Amino acid sequence: MKTDVLVIGGGPGGYVAAIRAAQLGKKVVLAERDRPGGVCVTVGCIPSKALIGVSKLVDKAKSAAEMGVDIDGVRVDLVRMQTWKEGVVKKLVGGVQFLLKSNGVEQRTGEARFVSQNAARVGDETVEFDACIVATGSRPVQIPGFPFDGERVIDSTGALALSELPRRLCVIGGGYIGLELGTLYARLGSQVTIVEMLDQILPGTDPDLVGPVARKLKKRGVPVHLKSRALGYEGRPGELSARIETPEGEIAIECDRILVAVGRVPLSDGVDLEKAGVLRDAKGFIPVNDKRQTNVAHIYAIGDVAGQPMLAHKASKEGEVAAEVIAGRPSVFDPKCIPAVVFGDPEIATAGLQEPDARAAGREIIVGKFPFSALGRALASAETDGFVKIIGDAKTMAALGVHIVGPGAGDLISEAALALEMGALLPDIGLTIHPHPTLPEAVMEAAKAALGEAIHALNRRGG
Ligand code: FAD
Repeated sequence: MKTDVLVIGGGPGGYVAAIRAAQLGKKVVLAERDRPGGVCVTVGCIPSKALIGVSKLVDKAKSAAEMGVDIDGVRVDLVRMQTWKEGVVKKLVGGVQFLLKSNGVEQRTGEARFVSQNAARVGDETVEFDACIVATGSRPVQIPGFPFDGERVIDSTGALALSELPRRLCVIGGGYIGLELGTLYARLGSQVTIVEMLDQILPGTDPDLVGPVARKLKKRGVPVHLKSRALGYEGRPGELSARIETPEGEIAIECDRILVAVGRVPLSDGVDLEKAGVLRDAKGFIPVNDKRQTNVAHIYAIGDVAGQPMLAHKASKEGEVAAEVIAGRPSVFDPKCIPAVVFGDPEIATAGLQEPDARAAGREIIVGKFPFSALGRALASAETDGFVKIIGDAKTMAALGVHIVGPGAGDLISEAALALEMGALLPDIGLTIHPHPTLPEAVMEAAKAALGEAIHALNRRGG
């Protein structure tokens, strides 16, 4: 068959690209070897947040007594929880399928492989295309000594499908996926241990933001071994012993399961890119320009396979850009910031320049901070850990970065992303009337704090 656009991969990059290209009048074929929705909808963002949401409920129930509500006998039934989670995933997969169909996108189930610069094999069909968008995503990294077997050593997909609560879970990797899943199981009642090779969890994140999360892990009794390397493991399912090299010497962590979450690599080796003449870099990413074109101008790459950060919303935006460029629009991928959220306890959300990076670059900045412990709404919800931190340019007062650790950080960051995209100054944020009592007031107060004008905290002019 012949089409204007072939999209390979139906994740948040690919399905969004397919819908946008179809909206713009293109004949589109979407090839997906699994369920549409990709990692994000089926084994990533959505199922993890569904289970994290339930784990927060368990936490709330356990701490309700301090607010005068005694909830006895909180029990976790992982089988029913999984059924509920799978229902959420199914609804979203159905929604994606409906949108694709309603927009006139032809869906093909099967693995796609290039046969030339203008054709690919999808299952047993050859699809000729004028333009192609590669959106094949990524897969988890394996480490020596810990091959995934779905039983003793699991990846994030395995961790999201457990039907029995592990009594003891060893998490190797303190990045956002390891931390989110570790926190999830710690909240549900597992004894969790986290092992991280670098000197802090969430490497690359402002240590100031990581502080409240690290303290909460400690309070929960989750040991975190930093600067530690996982060497290997012995034992049978349920009776494992992971050998870990720590700065204090080798230790053994006794556990039922080992979750390895040490990062993801681009999935660029299964599409026969070389037959289309598309290049990959040393790490397997497909290099692209600001229109998301590869070295072959009519072949585009988006999402995890096209580079960091590996986030769903970045993939979707790139998908829109690629589709618009194919339709002849003057689109480019040029965001001022790509916000990122870690759904731990408390949540961390960042947008724009971080303080340590600004200082390392020798930029003259002012910094405003506002603690949730001073905010009425946070107190009223009994969630007072954390703060909002705003970084501004000392001369122009332009907002450069907003970083939040605390309740609802993931929702609060969108105001910041809009402010950064619109080129807002700190006074723009500080002067905007925010409704009371709400958590976003902390963003307004942090902007005011940077200017020495916070009302509900004592001012210490930034810099
Ligand atoms: P994917 O979603 O990986 O989709 C690629 C699709 O291509 C897959 O469906 C695959 O089956 C298909 N495919 C691959 N090769 C072929 C082929 N040859 N032929 C046909 N089909 C093919 N991101 C966030 O922004 N927020 C979060 O909260 C978040 N949480 C996450 C939690 C976990 C546990 C994980 C693992 C990831 C999470 N992510 C999160 C990351 C997010 O899932 C990815 O960034 C996003 O899915 C990338 O989208 P994509 O379209 O590039 O690729």
